[in-house]
Amino acid sequence: MLNETMYAYGVEPSVIREIFTYANERKAQIGADKVFDFSLGNPSVPAPDAVRASIERSLAELTPAELHGYTPAPGLPAAREAVAASLNRRFGTTYTSADVFMTVGAAASVSCALRAVTSPGDEVIVIAPFFPEYRVWIEVAGAACIEVPAHPETFQIDVEAVRRAITPRTAAIIIDSPNNPTGVVYPRAVLEKLAAVLEEANRARAAELGHPQPIVLISDEPYREIAYGVEVPWIPAIYEHTVVCYSYSKSLSLPGERVGWVLVPQVSEGARRVMAAVAGAARALGYVCAPALFQRVVADCADVPSDVAAYARNRNLLTQALTRFGYTYVEPDGAFYLWVRALEDDAEAFCERARAFELLPVPSNSFGVTGWVRVGYCVDANVIERSLPAWEQLAQTY
Ligand code: PLP
Repeated sequence: MLNETMYAYGVEPSVIREIFTYANERKAQIGADKVFDFSLGNPSVPAPDAVRASIERSLAELTPAELHGYTPAPGLPAAREAVAASLNRRFGTTYTSADVFMTVGAAASVSCALRAVTSPGDEVIVIAPFFPEYRVWIEVAGAACIEVPAHPETFQIDVEAVRRAITPRTAAIIIDSPNNPTGVVYPRAVLEKLAAVLEEANRARAAELGHPQPIVLISDEPYREIAYGVEVPWIPAIYEHTVVCYSYSKSLSLPGERVGWVLVPQVSEGARRVMAAVAGAARALGYVCAPALFQRVVADCADVPSDVAAYARNRNLLTQALTRFGYTYVEPDGAFYLWVRALEDDAEAFCERARAFELLPVPSNSFGVTGWVRVGYCVDANVIERSLPAWEQLAQTY
């Protein structure tokens, strides 16, 4: 029998995909150079040379079975060790491969983490605006997605609002810094305040239940490496009950290769049980193992720096021009999205008007708030340059 819930997810229109399809149709009609598609989060920077070198070495040196065979479900030891060693070098931690579970990208990392720490009827807090897939992953776990609006001007976490949203059913909170869609990075002080609120709730809950049942902080970090001169704090050092979800989709420009990891620092019996549940979730969701070839790439390239220079240039080009034309936006400290205030209250109407100038940002409604648009600047710099007169003309119509 057809599963109506899955059917509904399958046919639900994705605004971002619709804009992307429209952009391609429009490019075929009027020429690719006349359409300014800012809809997608596909990295425009090529994967580093070290990735190709790693693949070529694997192709030259490995047997077909090594190259294409199943790996252990938690991942190749060399990949898990490389991830732990890289984190230890950067954050002064003492992780081992036992703390790392290789996954099929951040989507799988977050899905597994959610499945591992929630039961049907639980609640998971997200900070609005938020990555739309969170709602799907939370709901299929049988939990409720509780939206807590960010501060309306800065889009930082409204920690007091989080405090008010916590109930006895709160199992987890997902945060995402550098943030998609706003580009903000949560500073240490905000994260410390959040940790204090979660710890206070944990103490009250433990006293009531007679045993600990901490709220898990799921830190979704595919953009960790893409930051512009600001600190992206290491959250497990701030809040113990943190599960980090990572992928190489953005940092090494490998979104189609599907590789990432979940980190659960094995600091307590509770954490060991969470890690076992992550493994159980990956099994239950049918992930089997992360792609073998790209686990080897991770083993070789865990320390290869991301090339953020092109994104930094795009960010400056776009922000300087939009400022001149009278737009306002949230200062983008990370990721490759600019969160721009729509020039009218209705972001969808604004995007409709933008279409007349062949400008294709994403209305904020898709991310759970109104009145803003997301401009993905992970595009060729000349797309931004060519789009500037259109942004100016659009502003002049208001
Ligand atoms: N989380 C956030 C915030 C994202 O923006 C994305 C992708 O754009 C993902 C998770 C999924 O990443 P992946 O492609 O590694 O599954």
